[in-house]
Amino acid sequence: PAPPEDPFKKGWLKGVYDEKPVKEVHTRFPPEPNGYLHIGHAKAITVNFGFAKSHGGICNLRFDDTNPSKEEERYFTAIKDMVQWLGFEPAKITYSSDEFDKLYELAEELIKREKAYVCYCSPDEVKKGRGKLPNGEHGLRTACKHWSRDVEDNLTDFRKMRDGGYKPGEAVLRMKQYLATKPEEYEVDEEDSLEVKKQKEKLKAMANNPALWDCAAYRVTKNSHHHRTGDKWRIYPTYEFTHCIVDALEQISHSLCTVEFETLRPAYNWLLEALDMKQGASDEQGPMQREYGRLNVEGTILSKRRIAMLVEGTTVGDASAAPSTGVEEVADDMDELTLAEEGEEDPSAPLESTKSSTDKATRRIPPAVLDWDDPRLFTLVALRRRGVPPGALKKFVLDLGVTKANANTATHTLDANIRTYLERTVPRLMLVLDPIKVVLTNLPDDYVEEREVPFDPKDKAKGTHKVPFTKTIYIDRDDFREEDDPDFFRLSPGQSVGLLNAEHPVKCLSFSKDNSTGKVTEILAKYGADVPAGKARIHWVGESTAHNSPIKLEARIFNPLFKSSKPNELDWKNAGYYDNLNPDSLVKYENAMVECGFEYVRDHAPWPREEGEAKGMVENSSVRFQGLRTAFFALDKEAKGGKVVLNRIVSLRADGGK
Ligand code: ATP
Ligand code: MG
Ligand code: MG
Repeated sequence: PAPPEDPFKKGWLKGVYDEKPVKEVHTRFPPEPNGYLHIGHAKAITVNFGFAKSHGGICNLRFDDTNPSKEEERYFTAIKDMVQWLGFEPAKITYSSDEFDKLYELAEELIKREKAYVCYCSPDEVKKGRGKLPNGEHGLRTACKHWSRDVEDNLTDFRKMRDGGYKPGEAVLRMKQYLATKPEEYEVDEEDSLEVKKQKEKLKAMANNPALWDCAAYRVTKNSHHHRTGDKWRIYPTYEFTHCIVDALEQISHSLCTVEFETLRPAYNWLLEALDMKQGASDEQGPMQREYGRLNVEGTILSKRRIAMLVEGTTVGDASAAPSTGVEEVADDMDELTLAEEGEEDPSAPLESTKSSTDKATRRIPPAVLDWDDPRLFTLVALRRRGVPPGALKKFVLDLGVTKANANTATHTLDANIRTYLERTVPRLMLVLDPIKVVLTNLPDDYVEEREVPFDPKDKAKGTHKVPFTKTIYIDRDDFREEDDPDFFRLSPGQSVGLLNAEHPVKCLSFSKDNSTGKVTEILAKYGADVPAGKARIHWVGESTAHNSPIKLEARIFNPLFKSSKPNELDWKNAGYYDNLNPDSLVKYENAMVECGFEYVRDHAPWPREEGEAKGMVENSSVRFQGLRTAFFALDKEAKGGKVVLNRIVSLRADGGK
């Protein structure tokens, strides 16, 4: 067969390369270290690292750490881990903050070029200058009185900002972009030459793009202590000022980002051109920004702020402490991007509010999940903990396709992809979730028959292992009915059923029950060639100390966290999400057991073998297998020493089951 087509050399990505077919492709994955990555970021990582790799180039992991109040050490570590887990190696790990000195110098340079000014307008004055009238209508955009001050005054005031002379919000360094451009400057005249007409068209487009209405370059922040630069700075550069410049400093050739940044592309180019880091109207020199569609997953919550509410709980009822969670993260970012700094909000504030505890109307909402890596979440740490193979995520992202359009999908589609991916790549074992003891009365007490069982009957390369078939075996409670029923093909009184990986069927003779619980405790059965064949075959686990069978364990089954399939539409502002939580989102089977082949599977992780989870990254969640007729499982991080804890990765069929 023909070799598979390189997904990074076709479609939209091919177009991006063809626009700028350089020898040395340099890309970067630029997360803000203010939270854990989620499944959407798997796309950003795959696209940036994969594109570079496919062209023999390199990709940096860049921490875009210009927002001092939101950064924490644990996020840096977790982000690094996730890139490695997905099988990529950054050429360099860089920090935007390492360029603070250079960025500051360039800001002064921009002032000297008369392309930036210190502005003292209030947020309302800024809005008015942008043509936003109090009645919501649009008026003429006008420059403020600070726009035309001279270079020396601006330099003096910018240095004063740097030296702590202003409080947050009092002064902002703004770029002198296209805010004050008047319609007469771009109105096309009949007599204009083609060239002039073109220029006016461009000017008009720029002048009408809000991303170019004199956006902030530097602002004084409330909390100025920075994770890496300590108390050196009181002013910090904005995304718009930082991102394109750091791209240029790192010699990025293709700056790939998500579509919401498309309207910012002219601002990206404007600044680089203003600083001679890029040639006007050309992508040949300097970095070229192009935008791909976001990956949106329906059926779960991806917003950092909302996950924080699930992890930490929240407090509602007191208006002054109410979280501003009704707003999508994307929208928040866009606000940050296009408006002058209007004072930062601290996402942890509502959670730590003590003020509200005195107010009788407040309600304390407890946490809904274990932590950021709770397997019911769709953060990358959660998907890893659940046992999802990194290769399945990459394949999922690429199968959805990389185009300009947003890729909208749902958790059950992801699950279906993971299921297909695991089908032929992991070994099979017999695991019983809720065991009932079955005694085969016609066998001698010490009966042990070693069965040679393949790890995957359709893939001989995975090898075989030995499973003891014994007088006492355990079967799943689901596979037994106290009363015979013609529609039930498994074990019931007087009926027989086949056993997977055993030679003969078994027939139920009788059973006993615990009268206080009403639960069946033991089944007596007969085994042998003379037992009539059953209509189905069930799984089982034998009992043999010599074989260390069964291995006892706790199995955790995860179901959707919410009853609603569109949890983003719930009321997050008033914590209405809490009433929509699915009470069965976590089901624990504390007496589950697995056959002894599990030891081999654990010692030979990672499964899938060919996925090559980076060396040194083999951990509990790399131990994956299919429990025959049950589900796909992986070892949880809480499994230690003799304690086995398994997580269900996905069910065997779309209709779920246990
Ligand atoms: P969120 O707000 O959803 O937590 P973010 O946009 O703040 O994420 P960053 O850390 O700033 O995340 O982004 C790192 C990179 O990942 C950016 O280039 C961003 O465009 C990209 N990215 C973020 N979310 C998605 C998504 N859902 N699909 C594809 N790429 C994404
Ligand atoms: Mg962000
Ligand atoms: Mg965001």
